[in-house]
Amino acid sequence: MDFDHSDKVQRLRAQLNDFMRFHVEPQNVAWHHEVAAGRYPLALIERLKSRAFSEDLWNLFLPGLGDDDPGQRLTNLEYAPLAEIMGRVHWASEVFNCNAPDTGNMELLQLAATPEQRSRWLEPLLIGEIRSCFAMSEPDAASSDARNIRTSMVRDGDDYVINGRKWFITGAAHPNCKLAIVMGMTGEHLDASSTERHSMLLVPMDTPGLSVVRDIPIMHHHAPEGHCELLFRNVRVPAANLLGQEGKGFRLAQDRLGPGRVHHCMRTIGQCEVALELMCERALERKAFGRHLADYANIQDWIAESRLEIDQARLLVLRAAHRMDCEGNAAARVDVSAIKLVAARLQTRIVDRAMQVFGAMGLTPDTPLAYLWTWGRAMRFLDGPDEVHLRVVARAELAAARAQAGRNACQFVPPTQLLR
Ligand SMILES: Cc1cc2nc3c(=O)[nH]c(=O)nc-3n(C[C@H](O)[C@H](O)[C@H](O)COP(=O)(O)OP(=O)(O)OC[C@H]3O[C@@H](n4cnc5c(N)ncnc54)[C@H](O)[C@@H]3O)c2cc1C
Repeated sequence: MDFDHSDKVQRLRAQLNDFMRFHVEPQNVAWHHEVAAGRYPLALIERLKSRAFSEDLWNLFLPGLGDDDPGQRLTNLEYAPLAEIMGRVHWASEVFNCNAPDTGNMELLQLAATPEQRSRWLEPLLIGEIRSCFAMSEPDAASSDARNIRTSMVRDGDDYVINGRKWFITGAAHPNCKLAIVMGMTGEHLDASSTERHSMLLVPMDTPGLSVVRDIPIMHHHAPEGHCELLFRNVRVPAANLLGQEGKGFRLAQDRLGPGRVHHCMRTIGQCEVALELMCERALERKAFGRHLADYANIQDWIAESRLEIDQARLLVLRAAHRMDCEGNAAARVDVSAIKLVAARLQTRIVDRAMQVFGAMGLTPDTPLAYLWTWGRAMRFLDGPDEVHLRVVARAELAAARAQAGRNACQFVPPTQLLR
């Protein structure tokens, strides 16, 4: 693995850093004011999007594109340092068409869409004309196990009829969200094995019977794009809206999550860097009991530990990205689980230290820390809870141990031999 960034990535990093500094960061206050007034800051975002598009800072996440599709065609490893820069401002990724869940949805459509589905949904997504959401989790099913999903999708003539309830569906409240990729149980496959029962349907958001019930705040933080509850009541879509094959939804869901999980982790590294920078600045300027906070040994320890932990996590992220590029998403599964665990825990730990250095102010909306902590906490659920990822790592470790059982027999030296 080469630790140096290529010339192309160095150039993009410099360009992106400048874009963030001169165009995105100056808009942060305006973005928050719009949201506080109950509006999605659409005009602001669209203005920045057209600038990013014209500068070719666009679709940086997508390695494989069609000949005419706009984007840089970067590998995951090349994308990682760029996602880190975008992550520094939590709403910035949309400016570059690199935000979840659209990134995962575009990858999924690229993988499985028919030519008609591609021109109706993928092409407008690739140019940022529309937004989308991915609707899997349900209130009545333990959604960390996708096999439990029970929204029904029953074939009726040339249509499917959908009934069910989804929640925490990110992006569904975005004013340009036109498409829901919905996972459900296909009626004819009730007897099939638990991984062959589910399918995905492309559902236009304005289909009769589909309603956004509410935008669920996450620990009292309201996201303007929404983490929404959706109700499907006799929602009818043509059978041609099936994505991939019937009964293959579980497989598709697994394929969708690999790169998306790593993108979250890459952005986390950027957010942790911001928290560490804020922690240091505050420690250097604030005095208590006659000394700057930066002079106290415990605060220096927090700063040093944060630097070490961020750098360790970054290396793990890069290794996962490198493996996805070289061996494919499936081969990188354990690395992806590992980094997903490490990144989510890192974010709450580092932000928690920064909050402590800021004193009570660290808990208010006057700093980004409370939001960053909340997002770190949410990361321990989204794209699968910690425990599921721990199991993936443990199983791989146990399989390796099983394969070489007895390998360490020589390490057990009987005490009598030691004495001789
Ligand atoms: C901010 C946010 C955004 C989200 N966005 C989306 C979205 O866009 N689309 C979408 O479909 N979903 C989304 N989700 C939902 C998320 O994917 C689910 O919350 C997650 O998959 C866990 O499902 P659950 O909440 O039903 O927990 P459950 O499945 O009920 O699990 C509860 C707990 O059980 C334990 N557990 C589960 N499995 C195991 C195991 N194998 N071993 C040991 N313990 C276990 C864990 O402690 C887990 O936290 C989002 C969630 C959040 C917080």
